[in-house]
Amino acid sequence: MSSYLLDIQNLSVEVEGTVILENINLSIPYSESYVLFGPNGSGKSTLLKAIMGFPSYKVVNGKIIFDGKDITNLPTSERVRMGISIAYQHPPEIKGIKLIDIFKFCLKKKPEEDLEPEHYELIDKLKLRSFLNRNINVGFSGGERKRSEIVQMLLLKPKLILLDEPDSGVDIESLRLISQEIQKYITETGSSALIVTHQGEILNHITTGRACVLLDSTIHCYKNSQEIFNTIKDVGFAKCIECQERGVKIND
Ligand code: ADP
Ligand code: MG
Repeated sequence: MSSYLLDIQNLSVEVEGTVILENINLSIPYSESYVLFGPNGSGKSTLLKAIMGFPSYKVVNGKIIFDGKDITNLPTSERVRMGISIAYQHPPEIKGIKLIDIFKFCLKKKPEEDLEPEHYELIDKLKLRSFLNRNINVGFSGGERKRSEIVQMLLLKPKLILLDEPDSGVDIESLRLISQEIQKYITETGSSALIVTHQGEILNHITTGRACVLLDSTIHCYKNSQEIFNTIKDVGFAKCIECQERGVKIND
């Protein structure tokens, strides 16, 4: 049995007839939070959506192994059932469905059933109690949207959480709340995470291991997250991966 929860092998992905990702190799161990860096438009969200198996993201080569099983051709619903969950970069507004209803759905509860005290505890921690009867994300601020998204994701009890820029458009207070709950969940359950970020702040709250850089359709460098972040800040993405190509070790 592989020691990786997620093992992506030689993956190429096409969207609307264009190859966006080429020959991606990424192995995320059990119980590790992994970071994915890359400039805007490099394909980070595409990679997360391909892992979820959204229909417009067509795998043209390679495979995705999750928890020892080949999920490359499985529908999204099956992947969610197996324990993969995503928090979107831009959580959509959903009119006509209340936040409490989606929380019940995540928990497989019937509409007439109530949530458990532990669920209200999480809702209160993320300051969402007064939003429960509002339409999902409609009129929510950036931070409120991300907080609602994180609660939905955690209620599904995933083994792998995919976080697409959880820190973008979020104030420092919301970011702290979100990060604390994510770290608590990861510590308690031993799950893994793949976190896309441009900001260093989240690395101060969530214990991360390795990171990689997505540039020119493929992944480079598999080193310590804080080291890579500092290098990108200092010299930019392109120089950051040059360093690896020259065989200079950033940090092992
Ligand atoms: P990132 O998240 O790294 O900023 P994305 O994965 O969103 O990048 O996008 C990568 C590239 O794929 C971009 O050039 C984007 O325009 C293109 N792309 C993403 N989704 C679609 C789509 N549904 N249709 C056409 N092109 C897309
Ligand atoms: Mg993106």
